[in-house]
Amino acid sequence: MTRRYVVHTFGCQMNEHDSERIAGVLEADGMEAVESDDDADVVVLNTCCIRENADNKLYGTLGWLKPWKDAAEGRQIVVAGCLAQKDRDIVATKAPWVDVVLGTHNVHRTAELVQHATRHGQITEILDEAVIDDHALFPSALPAVRDTSYNAWVTIQIGCDNHCAFCIVPAVRGTEISRPFAEVVDEVRALAADGVTEVTLLGQNVNSYGRDLQRSARQAGDAEAKLRPLFADLLTAVAEVPGIRRVRFTSPHPKDMRPDTFAAMAASSAVCEHLHYPLQSGSDRVLGLMHRGYTAERYLERLVQARAAVPDLAVSTDIIVGFPGETDLDLVRTLEVAAAAEYDYAYTFIFSPREGTEAAQMVDQFVDPAVAAERFQRLRVVVEHSAMVKHQARVGRIEEVIVEGPSKKDPSVISGRTRQNKLVHFASPHPLRVGSYATVEVVSAAPHHLMGRFVELVAEPLHRRRIPVHAG
Ligand code: SF4
Repeated sequence: MTRRYVVHTFGCQMNEHDSERIAGVLEADGMEAVESDDDADVVVLNTCCIRENADNKLYGTLGWLKPWKDAAEGRQIVVAGCLAQKDRDIVATKAPWVDVVLGTHNVHRTAELVQHATRHGQITEILDEAVIDDHALFPSALPAVRDTSYNAWVTIQIGCDNHCAFCIVPAVRGTEISRPFAEVVDEVRALAADGVTEVTLLGQNVNSYGRDLQRSARQAGDAEAKLRPLFADLLTAVAEVPGIRRVRFTSPHPKDMRPDTFAAMAASSAVCEHLHYPLQSGSDRVLGLMHRGYTAERYLERLVQARAAVPDLAVSTDIIVGFPGETDLDLVRTLEVAAAAEYDYAYTFIFSPREGTEAAQMVDQFVDPAVAAERFQRLRVVVEHSAMVKHQARVGRIEEVIVEGPSKKDPSVISGRTRQNKLVHFASPHPLRVGSYATVEVVSAAPHHLMGRFVELVAEPLHRRRIPVHAG
């Protein structure tokens, strides 16, 4: 009998992409996806330790999964992802009813480990580094079950060589390894042949792409390997793949941001006019404590260059307030830089310590929670103001959107996304298929979305699966 599975994802885009691969590996092994735990034989929890309270969420979920498991013979629980990588044996110790614990470097082994557990009982397999073979290295090289048929994530790099004091990623994802250039382009070609029109290149620090490839080529005696393939080259090559209308990337690191990336963005019509550019703090002192490797001045200089090179560029960011040792003066610097940067939107966070990071050790410098909450509110005012100004400036414009489906709040309205990554809700007199491109006139603005009016259909989706969406 066909076994059924469900994957629950906690976390970032990298995790969501890993979940697609876990699903793909299980389906390649003959399993079938279902929507709910009650219909499943195997529940996979793909965890993320970057998010706040990740441990509580995982162990809370495992607590209520125990009766689920006990209710039927043969049910299995799998814990994967970076929290599993970090906690290792602790997962099975705290929740001995878990069948499989696997980390970030062995997603490709999910089906084998599930089978192993069926025959031999509980197994924890955490690898310290990626095994040097394609499947182990890059989730994108594995079969996938994608949530949508018109867009796809493509991993270009795994791991990170930076040491930001607040971040657990280098510890759980390992050192930076770039995926070979040709392999990335081949995957994008295959996706385009399958009807995908929008790809997002994914990595922890995409604009240092290729640094390790050059190093390995030189170590292997390739004297010609003078210049690494640059992220800009990759962006250009991916954007030239026939059928690809939109290319996005996330996340670049400001310290490695180079003008050639902006030039490649400007030169390739498929590369979207959107840059996610994480500031983290506007205070040079705090940036130093964070080990970010840039100053606020340099950050803003590069931003000016980016906007000069790429017309109509939307810029988003991540900012943390209340980092250990942050003073009110540091916060004021952050507010000034945020105001000067004029972001289209910002993901703002109150610092919360992640076990295993340098910042988690700075206990004696932790900022009082009430002070951090108040600083957070001050920052929200600044970033929401600039978001609103940016959105209002788009009212009256005609924007191209890709249709994502019915709006979550009002299914009679269609949601689409502009090239600048802005969500637009609009009514349409015609049914529009998910993945279609349409133009809409922006009629009003809110801080987190735009409202629009359908103008015309630009392109039907190319993928074969028909998912009609009607609104209006
Ligand atoms: S660049 Fe810094 S924040 Fe980003 S993944 Fe690497 S260590 Fe973490």
